[in-house]
Formats: sequence, C-alpha cells, structure tokens
Amino acid sequence: MEMSELAERVARGDRRALARAITLVESGRADHRAEATALLEALGTRRQALRIGLSGTPGVGKSSFIEAFGSMLTGQGLRVAVLAVDPSSARSGGSILGDKTRMERLARDPNAFIRPSPSQTHLGGVARRTREAVALCEAAGFDVVLVETVGVGQSETLVAEMADIFVLLLAPAGGDELQGVKRGIMEMADLILVNKADGELKSTATRTCADYSGALRLLRKRPQDPEGFPKAMCVSAAERMGLDTAWAEIQALTAWRRETGHFAERRAEQARHWFEEEVRQGLLARLNADPTIRARMEALGGAVAEGRTAPGKAAAEVLAALGGG
Ligand code: GDP
Repeated sequence: MEMSELAERVARGDRRALARAITLVESGRADHRAEATALLEALGTRRQALRIGLSGTPGVGKSSFIEAFGSMLTGQGLRVAVLAVDPSSARSGGSILGDKTRMERLARDPNAFIRPSPSQTHLGGVARRTREAVALCEAAGFDVVLVETVGVGQSETLVAEMADIFVLLLAPAGGDELQGVKRGIMEMADLILVNKADGELKSTATRTCADYSGALRLLRKRPQDPEGFPKAMCVSAAERMGLDTAWAEIQALTAWRRETGHFAERRAEQARHWFEEEVRQGLLARLNADPTIRARMEALGGAVAEGRTAPGKAAAEVLAALGGG
C-alpha cells in the first residue's frame, strides 16, 4: 500500500490501518523505516491528543486503573488509545505489559485502541517506537493517549519525556518508608494516585496518600505548576472511586498549562529533545554499522587498555574517521 493511502486511512481513524502503521514504526528494517518516515510526514502534526504517562510497579493496578479510567473517558464520548512501554520486553523478550487478557472490556470498546508493548526492541528503539505510535494515534484522532510503563529502569523518564501529564500509580503501604519511590520520579509526577483505597486497605491508603502529599510539598515548586500541584489522591480502580476527580484534576492542570503557555513550551522542548536524541541514536547506529570503524575501535580499544594511547586521543581518531575527516 502506498504511504499516502495508509495515511489517509489512519487519518480517517481506521483502526486496522492504525495497527498496521504502528507495526511499521516498530520495524527495524531500513525500507520500513523510510516508509514510516514518509507516513509520519504525510500525517503531519495537526491533531493533538492529551498525552498521559502512567507509571507503576507490577501489581499496583495499572491495567485495572486503565480499564476503569479508560472506560469512564470513552463513556464521555472521548476516544482513548493505550500504548505500553515495557523495558522487560527489551531485555528478555518476555513482556510484563503485553498480556492480551489485560483490559478486556476496554479492548472491546469501539472508542478505545490498545496496543501492547512489542517484544525485543532495545530501549532506544522503544523510545522512538512509542513516540511515533503516539503521533500516529494523535493523527488518527484520539483525544487521549495513555502511555503506560512499569517502574523499571529508564522507562519512566522516557514516558515522562513524551507525556503532557505524568501520573504515578502507587499502592497503599504501611510504615514510614515511602515505598522506595525515587526522588527523581516523584519530581516528574504531576499526580500521584494511591490505588486500592477500598475495603481493608482504605485507611492505609489514606495514610499513604497523606505521606505523599507531605513529601510533594517538600519538593521545589516547578514553574509549570499552579498552586496545589503536584498532588496526591486516593483512588480505587476496583470500585471506580476517585477516577472522575483524578480526571478533573488532570483537566484543570492541562487547562492551566495551556493558558500559561507551559503546555506548548513543554511540547516544543520535547520535540527538540527527541530530534537531538534521534541524531545521537543515528550516530551510534552508524558507528556500529561500519566494519572499518568497528575494527578501528577494537584496535584502539586494545591500545588504550594497554596504556599505549590516551582514551581522548584514540576517541578523537575514531570520531574523525566517522565524520569522514
Ligand atoms: P498491574 O500489574 O499494575 O497492571 O496491576 P493489575 O491491574 O493487574 O492489578 C493487580 C492486582 O491488584 C489484581 O489482583 C487486581 O485485582 C488488584 N487491584 C487492582 N486495582 C485494585 C483496586 O482498586 N482495589 C483492590 N482492592 N484491588 C485492586
């Protein structure tokens, strides 16, 4: 199929065309890459969705939350796409998030589109694939794109860097330890949702939420936040409690950022970041693909290891060769 035709179908919101387009951006083949680039170019960036990043460790209730939250949104007439970034699939080929039985109801919803994480892509590849899949979902007219990830390794940063709003999902926890949530991740969060605030866990959830509210207040105020943000709240995916409030908070924050220009500014910064990242990845790929350079690296690596050449000098030599100079 011609890319112009595929683009047209994606723009019409044809789900099969969208699935096919995402397969194309996931492919590592050079001819597919060229097609994917042409496709994205043809689609442009006219349409925008609200990009929500959602992170949480396995078992915290991500699928349950997305199922409930996503259904609530589609119930309001919104079209919702769900994409997954699963670093475990990059390493082992096994996926935590790829399970087909997750989000069964949302998967059948005509206003929802769920795409599991592809297996066997390296993290750099995952970043590009996800970013481009987000762009495709936007072009297909989705109102909300949820990008989900497990709290492992670099994936949270990656998702935060492509989201407008970053949500951290946590479980109720006893004790005074803040669940080992790293400060850097707290600093990225716009909204912390303590899930499972129901039944026996309710009071623990309330306490956990208070702990996180306190911790968030200690963080430096960010220019992109109105008063009261970032914020921690209790929800229950199982009882569908607090989901509407969470959505209202997300909308309020989004509206504020749009009015103040922070929304557009962040998108612009992200676009620049991804462009530069793409150049860096391309250079690395070139470095690895060229057998002459690889051999030179090998030889110079030996010389550096034996102390015959200084690392800086050896690196300059390789870089000069790479630049054709
Ligand atoms: P994920 O691994 O983060 O996607 O988590 P799941 O959505 O698969 O949920 C993990 C477990 O937590 C499952 O047994 C769910 O039934 C349970 N769970 C999820 N949300 C809630 C909730 O709001 N309340 C309670 N009590 N359990 C929940």
